[in-house]
Amino acid sequence: MTQPVAPLHMVTRFAPSPTGRLHVGHGWSALLALDMARASGGALRLRIEDIDGTRSRPEHVAGIIEDLRWLGVAWDGEIMLQSQRLAAYDAALERLRGQGLLYPCFCTRADIQASLTAPHGPEGPLYPGTCRTLNAGERARRIAAGEAHAWRIDMARAVERAGELRWSALPFPPVPDASGQMVDAAPLAHGDVVLARKDAPASYHLSCTLDDAAMGVTHVLRGDDLRGATDVHRLLQALLDLPSPTYLHHPLLVDAEGKRLAKRSGSIAIADLRAAGTAPGVLADALRAGRFPVGIGFASA
Ligand code: GLU
Repeated sequence: MTQPVAPLHMVTRFAPSPTGRLHVGHGWSALLALDMARASGGALRLRIEDIDGTRSRPEHVAGIIEDLRWLGVAWDGEIMLQSQRLAAYDAALERLRGQGLLYPCFCTRADIQASLTAPHGPEGPLYPGTCRTLNAGERARRIAAGEAHAWRIDMARAVERAGELRWSALPFPPVPDASGQMVDAAPLAHGDVVLARKDAPASYHLSCTLDDAAMGVTHVLRGDDLRGATDVHRLLQALLDLPSPTYLHHPLLVDAEGKRLAKRSGSIAIADLRAAGTAPGVLADALRAGRFPVGIGFASA
């Protein structure tokens, strides 16, 4: 099934997590999002996903902004910082709690790993549902006692409430005037995902879904590793009455050993290329043309 031709004035976004400096894969992704927006007469927004207290660093926020500016990725409007969006995340959690779709989960990582029977979903072992069956009194008692807890969605119940869902996908690389394709969403396969973490006020799934809507994003361009997450995001959009953007997932870049580029590893950082004397225009042109530094290429599907 197809849907009408993509609208003009796309609003795209780039949403890095400040856990390190940007590598060439990020630069490539950001330039693609910029070019898509510009070609449609639209806007590119920048969001810093800085609510992971254990891994986010303020110096990386500054570094990312410097890297993007240097590379010529000119975003529009104010930068959205997730750390300033906590009230919106709380309100959404409250609403989902009110719908009876969330439950507190007191399990530790070790508890979950110890559950040998846990089936696997697209992102690893599925939560076995241990805390789903706790009664209201037990939940209240443990919360009142200050026991650390996350909030999970009761996926079966949520899917029942939302009904069948689909999301709109455009092919990658973007083709002018391509029509979107509707893809069946399969959130059930993800199990009872966490929406508020023990150590962060909202999980990636919740914050990303709410922020894309708040920024008026019409087209989400991101890596293939997040394709599966789109199922969960589509469900949250339905439960929270949010519009559903069109999604494009680009292949991930890998190094000479076939390993995914990562901020932590020795992947080629934009800052390193800059320090080595690369001119920003030369790098941007090369990335746009899909010419990556030696050894770096697309992951095979
Ligand atoms: N913050 C995520 C990352 O840096 C990207 C999230 C997204 O594009 O939806 O990998």
